[in-house]
Amino acid sequence: MLKLFKEGNAEFYASEWQDESAKTPVFYNPVMKLNRDVAVWIVKQLKPKNICLGMEASGIRAVRMALEANASGITANDIGKEAFDAMKINIALNNVENSITASNKDIKSLLSEGKLYDYIDIDPFGTPVYYAENAIKSLADNGILAVTATDTSCLCGSYVKACLRKYSSKPLNNEFNKETGLRILIHSMQELGLKRGKALFPVFSHSSSHYMRAYLRCNASENALNAVKEGQGYILYCTKCLHRCVSDSPEGTCCFSQMEYAGPLWLGKLWDESLASSFELIPYIQEESKIAVPWHFDSHRLAKLAGKPALKHDMLIAGIQAKGFKASRTHFKPEGIKTDASVKDIISLL
Ligand SMILES: [Zn+2]
Repeated sequence: MLKLFKEGNAEFYASEWQDESAKTPVFYNPVMKLNRDVAVWIVKQLKPKNICLGMEASGIRAVRMALEANASGITANDIGKEAFDAMKINIALNNVENSITASNKDIKSLLSEGKLYDYIDIDPFGTPVYYAENAIKSLADNGILAVTATDTSCLCGSYVKACLRKYSSKPLNNEFNKETGLRILIHSMQELGLKRGKALFPVFSHSSSHYMRAYLRCNASENALNAVKEGQGYILYCTKCLHRCVSDSPEGTCCFSQMEYAGPLWLGKLWDESLASSFELIPYIQEESKIAVPWHFDSHRLAKLAGKPALKHDMLIAGIQAKGFKASRTHFKPEGIKTDASVKDIISLL
């Protein structure tokens, strides 16, 4: 049974009964609305010509891109026959037949047909790694690869072996594990890109509820390929004094003991600053995009380390800024602080 839903400017049909694990024929997950809001916003800003949405289910993402971002040249694909039928109904219902072509193929075969796209969206349950190789192959120069990962417990360090297996990187379950997870996801996409001579730089990314999301721009120049490689490495972390640093190697000592590490991962920017400067859908991304540091701090942990009561968040941020450092809240966590100050600098302030 199909039921009528509404999201953004679109009305659409999806299965009345929704259950992620039971493979609902026309799945619609309202929790992913923000994921789609951001995707629509990105497409509105960047205006890609040929768009491929690989796992569309009801087609809501495609319909919203056509209605709200005025996008055309959209291929909306789903392997399920019922999803494909619903998608055709939803395209007609919203009068966007001229902008969207429905497709009923296996995503990997669709992305093996030789057509190049300026925007490819891979939005699976779990990891996008299995589909990424085909997506990268079909990505035009200057095109955007958008990927969702919902296996966050593995990326954030609850399942270290699973992360090593899927992403070839070691996660680290500490106070900035979500950021580390996102950087591991980006690194894994970059590695697949490098093999095909395509440098993938994040222009936007976020970690929200139970998923992570990265938008990567493709650049096939020699300089860009080298720049990606130079932006990768390890984060070393001392569990005793909370000191952290970037390194070319996973080895390092602090407080007379071996430091923990995460990586290899992407150490560079998560956002294109000018793109993020007009972004308002997720609080704090605008501010934190100006601070190019591959981690953040946790104000409660810092206070505990200093043996002081927790300072008001905004006071601490203002204090760090008054010392001449950059500092802002971060979308990764409510008690997080993004700053280029060191742990020593902050402790002396506390
Ligand atoms: Zn230490």
